Amino acid sequence: MSHSNEVELVANGGWDERILVCRNAPLVTTFIVITTRYVVVVDTMINEVTAGKLLDVARPYLTDGRSLLIINTHADYDHSWGNQLFAAMGVPIIGRRASVPIFSEPDTLTFLQRVQTDEPGIFGNVIPTPPTILFDDKLTIDGGDLTLELFATPGHTVDHTALYIPEINTLLAADAAEAPYPVARTTAGLPVMRQSLAKLAAIHAETALYCHAPTDIGPQLLHDNITYFDKLEAACRAALARGVPANPAEDADVIELVGLPYAQAVPQIARWQNIHEYYRTRGHAAQLRMMLESVSRES
Ligand SMILES: [Zn+2]
Repeated sequence: MSHSNEVELVANGGWDERILVCRNAPLVTTFIVITTRYVVVVDTMINEVTAGKLLDVARPYLTDGRSLLIINTHADYDHSWGNQLFAAMGVPIIGRRASVPIFSEPDTLTFLQRVQTDEPGIFGNVIPTPPTILFDDKLTIDGGDLTLELFATPGHTVDHTALYIPEINTLLAADAAEAPYPVARTTAGLPVMRQSLAKLAAIHAETALYCHAPTDIGPQLLHDNITYFDKLEAACRAALARGVPANPAEDADVIELVGLPYAQAVPQIARWQNIHEYYRTRGHAAQLRMMLESVSRES
């Protein structure tokens, strides 16, 4: 994927006016929540340039004694690599304690080197910078008029957090749900991610916004994501019962083996043209592999 430093403010699609939705197309959507006490930037995008553009959006609201706070929903590059700008300004960056080691993990540094080589104009100056105010499972920010309830929603990554704002029954699910489906990275993370999806659906939020989904898709996406993994589970159980191995060979066509093509797994999204190729092919196959292994481990 090639990246850009463009940041646009997305026109309000009916959500509360105190939530500003920003997009670094086609990669990621992030949020700024304006409360009476704080202006809260939820995720910092991909570098200090995009972070600076978020700051430009936030700046007019830094009046009437409001101060700036940053939240990281997790340590992935599209959510946290703008942190260095805010850290240099001394702005508090709130995140899960579990995020901190990820910023200096070998995998992160290898990925950084690769993208710095491939796209120096975008990533050349990035210094992965961890959050500075840490919480484990839950944190409440009393913004005065709006309360931001942060709660761990692991699975996509171990350090993921979502946000709920009870006064406006609004959920910022970040990457805990995605169109067409959220991505578990490990077999162990898959059941954890499904538990997080169930927890998010149980909130019955009226408005739900995501970092990788259209802004008008609504809370139904949580249920569609749950259905996707339920279908994978059923298909994998049936496949194992037919004798499909729990760990098919590297070169095996696991989608064919399990017999659940992408279009059947997400019929409501399958016709969308703007879904990245990865989700239709390798991504779907990877989730199926993890599900096969996960289901076989239980029995
Ligand atoms: Zn993301």
